[in-house]
Amino acid sequence: MKTLNDADFKDKRVLVRVDFNVPMNDRKEITDTTRITETLPTIRKILNDGGNPILMSHLGRPKGEINPKYSLASVAQCLSRLLNTEVLFWEDYLQPGAVQKSKELKPGQVALLENLRFYNEEEGADKAFAKTLAGLGDAYVNDAFGTAHRAHASTAIIAEFFPQNKYFGFLLDKEVKALDYVLQSAKAPFTAIIGGAKVSSKMKVIKNLINRVDNLIIGGGMAYTFIKAMGGTVGNSLCEEDWVDATADLVKEMTLKGVRLYLPLDSICGNAFAADCNVQYIDSNFIPDGWMGMDIGPKTIKSYAEVIQKSQTILWNGPMGVFEMKAFEKGTGSVGMAIAAATSCGAFSMIGGGDSVAAVNQFGLENYVSYISTGGGAMLEYLEGIELPGIKMLL
Ligand code: AMP
Repeated sequence: MKTLNDADFKDKRVLVRVDFNVPMNDRKEITDTTRITETLPTIRKILNDGGNPILMSHLGRPKGEINPKYSLASVAQCLSRLLNTEVLFWEDYLQPGAVQKSKELKPGQVALLENLRFYNEEEGADKAFAKTLAGLGDAYVNDAFGTAHRAHASTAIIAEFFPQNKYFGFLLDKEVKALDYVLQSAKAPFTAIIGGAKVSSKMKVIKNLINRVDNLIIGGGMAYTFIKAMGGTVGNSLCEEDWVDATADLVKEMTLKGVRLYLPLDSICGNAFAADCNVQYIDSNFIPDGWMGMDIGPKTIKSYAEVIQKSQTILWNGPMGVFEMKAFEKGTGSVGMAIAAATSCGAFSMIGGGDSVAAVNQFGLENYVSYISTGGGAMLEYLEGIELPGIKMLL
């Protein structure tokens, strides 16, 4: 495995796949620049060597059509400010003159290609498309952990054209090391906190995690499928009926493996899925019809915080409730705070997944946890033990 420290990019055009799929508001203003700032070490290393970074990324889901709504133009401007240098924005990178243009870059110049997903060939993993992109560089760096689980033209196929000159970017390297630490060297007690809407989307990752963790805390909508699987009544709460049996089997497997499972004791329930619904605290095992669990209640918060406080390694993915609504944000915020407190006492904490990272930012805890992953799906697949194509192709 080659990292950037093994390379000298003097006079080289270096194609870097980054993940600049940043959140933007209606006015096309970037609302969170984390994914951009996290790639600056890689970009600066290439510039300091005397090379030219040529950056490529996707943004949103333009579905193979050129659509200004998904343009990376404002990202080029933002990057230019952050680097304090000119960032050229290339929309015509598939035209015959593009290779010549790349060879005419002056020292210190950086280029950013327009959204790769304007072309179906990107997600279609088209080899000819990857070859055209490859023509723009003398070396290839993958620094896009957020898309490392996708075998697309720019994230995987392109590496074939650089058998001797393909590298892990600093961010990709950092992400993989943090996840490997969690998977291999985690100190006990190791607690995984998994929340979010559905158990079906996280079943595989939970199955993998129960081989490693001491405690498993479940929150969010998925908790009610667990409660149903254990004989509780969940009223109108989100519950995946088709997954109740599989969840019951999972609980049995956990018990055999000695994993302690923590489920909500009480829930803040609403009489509708709405921010202004009527609300009451209800025992999570006895939720009547007409009410749905929207967040974990105070007894649950206390019990989860106690487990988190005693943990040495903490992995968090998925909110504890419908945290986007003010009335139901407390469970997620409290769990975030308990993680921050445990971290300040020496625990290693790792947070990943769009919603959990948004929650950490919403509660101002981003500087109080050990590691925030830029990948959601990629992090979960890595934890499932799946070999990510974007990483495999660099080896
Ligand atoms: P996921 O993408 O699976 O991590 O799920 C995140 C989503 O789960 C968020 O949009 C939350 O609003 C939602 N969620 C969390 N708790 C609940 C709940 N108790 N009922 C319904 N949706 C929930």
